Amino acid sequence: MSILVLNCGSSSIKFKLFTQTCEVLHSGLIERIFEKELGRGVIDGVCFFEGEIANHHVGMEKLFEQLRRCGAITSYDDITLVAHRVVHGGERFTAPILINETVIEAIERLVPLAPLHNPANLEGIKVAQAVVPNASHIAIFDTAFHQTMPKHAYRYAIPKEFYTNNAIRRYGFHGTSHRYIAEKTADYLNRPLETLNFITLHLGNGDSICAIRNGKSIDTSMGFTPLEGLMMGTRSGDIDPAIVFYMEHICGMDIKSIDHTLNHKSGLKGVCGDNDMRLILERAEDGDDDAILAVEMFVYRIRKYIGAYAVSLGSVDAIVFTGGIGEHSQNIRFRVCEGLEDVLGVIIGESRENEGVIAFEAPQSRIALLAIPTDEEYQMAKESTVLLSI
Ligand code: ADP
Repeated sequence: MSILVLNCGSSSIKFKLFTQTCEVLHSGLIERIFEKELGRGVIDGVCFFEGEIANHHVGMEKLFEQLRRCGAITSYDDITLVAHRVVHGGERFTAPILINETVIEAIERLVPLAPLHNPANLEGIKVAQAVVPNASHIAIFDTAFHQTMPKHAYRYAIPKEFYTNNAIRRYGFHGTSHRYIAEKTADYLNRPLETLNFITLHLGNGDSICAIRNGKSIDTSMGFTPLEGLMMGTRSGDIDPAIVFYMEHICGMDIKSIDHTLNHKSGLKGVCGDNDMRLILERAEDGDDDAILAVEMFVYRIRKYIGAYAVSLGSVDAIVFTGGIGEHSQNIRFRVCEGLEDVLGVIIGESRENEGVIAFEAPQSRIALLAIPTDEEYQMAKESTVLLSI
């Protein structure tokens, strides 16, 4: 009996297969669905299919067939539980939920809030339900962890009817990652989650920061969409909203190209032309001015948020980094944390690693400094088993 975790995008299906005790067995993806001859299926790094994948249904069938052929499952009925990543759960979903018709309708109603993601996630649910109808299907929402934010953190200062009629508010994303990191941090510090305050930073291509009080999210930097907050790989993060009007009136852009600019041509890429932090750090090392500025802006934004969230929390037990940049770049971690001794009591010390967790605060630091690899799929598998009390 195994658990399949699915992350279904508009042209890809990513998966991880777990044992019932949440140990990972296999992982891989189906990609470039719809792209004529360019489709590919990969399991554990080995390509098992190249050619046309007409739609998600075909992709899912290829995946299951290959899992059976390579002995990962003996029949489709081996998969007893399928956990589906769903980006937007709105205000309705605050925890994982067993999928039924009502849940599907509710996710459909949330499509306007995540027009690029929820339809693909729904497609994944429908196709997987058709291919493995006997499994329990669970939806896990990126927004759910942040549903504990108080009103004063999630409301925008715009007329109330935009909230009541149009559901415009802060939702926050990367929730599964922030929750995983919160639980890992509590384990590492060997203290109950409910007694801890911390700031978690997910720094990858998308970036977000979360203020966690007594184990619960009380604020996060992504907002109504993942565009708000920190400077990201290609997203601008916070800007004066009047820049949008200016781009339209004065720069002569239409809304679609402004949207594209702010989501895909801004952030690190907009400032220095690259969005791969490794390359940017190398360029900065070689004295490239644009790369130096991009890193300085990236770090400065993070520090501003840490200051704000430290005040929101009142006290901070740990600052925890994750995501590709957060996990791998000591350079960025140190820059974010240096010079905070007087204001926060943060003192950087020697880095040491224990069971994948890097700790780097000095013994006299008031705040623990950690880097923990995130594992959203594991968290989804675990939350699903908890929901079904397996
Ligand atoms: P995604 O958000 O797409 O899941 P990741 O979490 O994998 O992305 O993060 C990708 C980012 O992590 C890229 O900017 C990449 O350059 C950066 N990264 C990965 N390894 C390192 C490293 N050793 N040093 C600096 N940045 C790194």
